[in-house]
Amino acid sequence: MKTIIEPFKIKSVEPIKFTTRKEREKILKEAGYNPFMIHAEDVLIDLLTDSGTSAMSAKQWSGIMNGDESYAGSRSFFRFEKTVKKITGHKFIIPTHQGRASEKILFSIIGGKGKYIPNNTHFDTTRANIEFTGAEAVDFLNEIGKHPEQRADFKGNMDVDALEAFIKKTGKENIPLIMITITNNSGGGQPVSMQNIKDVRAVCDKYKIPLFLDACRFAENAYFIKTREKGYQDKSILEIVQEIFSYADGATMSAKKDALVNIGGFLSVNDENLATKCRNLLIVTEGFPTYGGLAGRDLEAIAQGLEEILDENYLHYRIRSTEYLGEKMINAGIPIIEPPGGHAIYIDAKRFLPHIPPYEYPGQSIVCEIYLEGGVRAVEIGSVMFGKYDKETGKLIPPPMELVRLAIPRRVYTQSHIDYVAEVLIETYNNRKNLKGCKIVYEAPMLRHFTAQFEPIK
Ligand SMILES: *Cc1c(COP(=O)(O)O)cnc(C)c1O
Repeated sequence: MKTIIEPFKIKSVEPIKFTTRKEREKILKEAGYNPFMIHAEDVLIDLLTDSGTSAMSAKQWSGIMNGDESYAGSRSFFRFEKTVKKITGHKFIIPTHQGRASEKILFSIIGGKGKYIPNNTHFDTTRANIEFTGAEAVDFLNEIGKHPEQRADFKGNMDVDALEAFIKKTGKENIPLIMITITNNSGGGQPVSMQNIKDVRAVCDKYKIPLFLDACRFAENAYFIKTREKGYQDKSILEIVQEIFSYADGATMSAKKDALVNIGGFLSVNDENLATKCRNLLIVTEGFPTYGGLAGRDLEAIAQGLEEILDENYLHYRIRSTEYLGEKMINAGIPIIEPPGGHAIYIDAKRFLPHIPPYEYPGQSIVCEIYLEGGVRAVEIGSVMFGKYDKETGKLIPPPMELVRLAIPRRVYTQSHIDYVAEVLIETYNNRKNLKGCKIVYEAPMLRHFTAQFEPIK
């Protein structure tokens, strides 16, 4: 088989800045050993997130010039609405400025104290928006999804039996909707199978509870279904996507992922009554229903991006480039969540640095070292991000996993960039015995990972 190449050529380039290790030592120290505080200009390869970091196509950029900026009834809105309807089949399409705005609107209406929202795994903004209303966000991930070292095709699947037991115990009247996140971002970017979506739908029908998708990476999930699930090999990505959405009553979407744009989102619903309530809230918080917090040009770029994301050659390259980085790491013995997910590689920091305990933040140590080694930026997803303190003893209660996420921006880096990232990681892994832990010297009361300051332990 021939090399899977980038399915595009490059028309516009953006230089990246090279620094020396000595310069990076100074930069990292000034950033309090927290890569979130490093200026993006001082990063060579930025794998902090795949959100809003995509490269737009020539057609998207021409859409930007072609955007209709009318306040009401803009032509760009109707193009956007038509495209989203083609993909989702949902009746009412509400534009928002990003995914969490859709979540805020939806859960403000259907959430509240005494309510429960099940999901395979809630993304952090989804959980926060649910809990902000007083409702509870509950996760029902399949057992295999909780084991980083075990390979399976659909590690994002919902545990349907546990879900049904929960409905029986809690009462369907306290569950305003059930959600499925495709792909499961917080669980390693792992896909959900069509069969699992159908099985959850059957439970929803039995108890008359609506099903919503957190659809940020719907096309990447569809590609996994096409290549891994029996019966889908000969279907087009569009057909698979349409089938996925056909089982749902609505969806929240961050266009910063699989719509290949830098800002945007939407909420889609079938229930007219709910749509009216959502639009009323949208007018107060986001904007008029035909722009919802976005410029007309943004709607144009989203519509174009949603068409491009369905291209199988693009998805083939996309999923392969993530897997390619994963394979290089596995071959070098670096412990990662297997198999590689759609949008990111997750390093298992506990196995990478067994000599550094969770309260000395092994993930943070890796994140700092790969910056020093090669100017690569990644993010810790472990005790820094999710650790809590015991109220009585003040001791850290670590989360189940200590991970480092390398998220791959869409259409931004080439294979040689990825080869370089693998070299930096392998070098860091070979030097792992010399890595030291770190301690926190400043932290904010909430979401501390963004602004915390660290010091290496000598
Ligand atoms: C990014 C993301 C969101 C939130 O979207 P924003 O555009 O960042 O507000 C919600 N769910 C999942 C699974 C995501 O990846």
